[in-house]
Amino acid sequence: MLAMVFDNPGKPLRRAEITAPQPGPRQLSIRVHACAVCRTDLHIVDGELTQPKLPLIPGHEVVGTVVGLGDGISRRKLGDRVGVPWLGWTCGTCSYCQNGQENLCDDAKFTGYTLDGGYAEYMVADERFCFPIPDAYSDAEAAPLLCAGLIGYRSLVKAGNGKRLGIYGFGAAAHIVAQVAKYQQREIYAFTRPGDEQAQQFARSLGATWAGGANEVPPHKLDAAIIFAPVGELVPQALRAVGKGGIVVCGGIHMSDIPTFPYAILWEERTITSVANLTRRDGDEFMALAPKVPVRTNVQGFPLVAANEALHQLRTGKLNGAAVLMITSAGAEET
Ligand SMILES: [Zn+2]
Ligand SMILES: [Zn+2]
Repeated sequence: MLAMVFDNPGKPLRRAEITAPQPGPRQLSIRVHACAVCRTDLHIVDGELTQPKLPLIPGHEVVGTVVGLGDGISRRKLGDRVGVPWLGWTCGTCSYCQNGQENLCDDAKFTGYTLDGGYAEYMVADERFCFPIPDAYSDAEAAPLLCAGLIGYRSLVKAGNGKRLGIYGFGAAAHIVAQVAKYQQREIYAFTRPGDEQAQQFARSLGATWAGGANEVPPHKLDAAIIFAPVGELVPQALRAVGKGGIVVCGGIHMSDIPTFPYAILWEERTITSVANLTRRDGDEFMALAPKVPVRTNVQGFPLVAANEALHQLRTGKLNGAAVLMITSAGAEET
């Protein structure tokens, strides 16, 4: 099969012809149709996440069709369309797993990081961690739901129920969260790179009440803010934008250092928290909610062999919405 392989930080992904993986116990073999490109992939290839398996096939927002079954499969059958997210396996026995926090499992394995992912024509995945994909979505539209959507949703839940919601960094996750927040009748305040008129216009088109640069002060105090941009300076800026009791959620897996800030902007019961990974419950809730909103994803397609170009465009902030690698067409496995 064709795959894009990560060997070392600082080197572009390598195009390779390799043997397709065979499914082990409880694993599905999946013909990959589409795989969205996440900022986490960028943190891996840039060496900011330091524990990948090597060599690695990245990609954890995968939509494909089941074409092979390992031993002990009970939930899926050949021909099912499934989505494969970041959380690829958990132990089921540690205190986190036992307490509904499998996202924090001590031994968790992650798709496209410690397990091979979807920048390839085929992959394997544990059936217990795959999600069904709502029929309303094409493969390309569904792919960004698997991480931008799920992590965005978990971040939104962590932000509480306040009406005025700030979103810092208006990329793939934000464009999905904004639609859900609007459906929940909240007001959205979108913060972009200063002067990025195009991103601000994109945010307004998705119903943002206000859009401006991250250095600007919004017209009202916010109830909560979610930071998707991996920029530590945004934490004190967001703390200044939220009112008393406000919540600041850091939605990314990596962030540059947070500068020191005066205690006064944290005082009055403001909270800073972060989101790590996802639980299967997040996935079930979000996949049920998405078609009701309905969440529409803005996708920009790239061929698999253009994965490096897609990553480059994400790094330089050139994308509105999500980059998706279009890998094989649905139905191809039958020919
Ligand atoms: Zn565990
Ligand atoms: Zn991701």
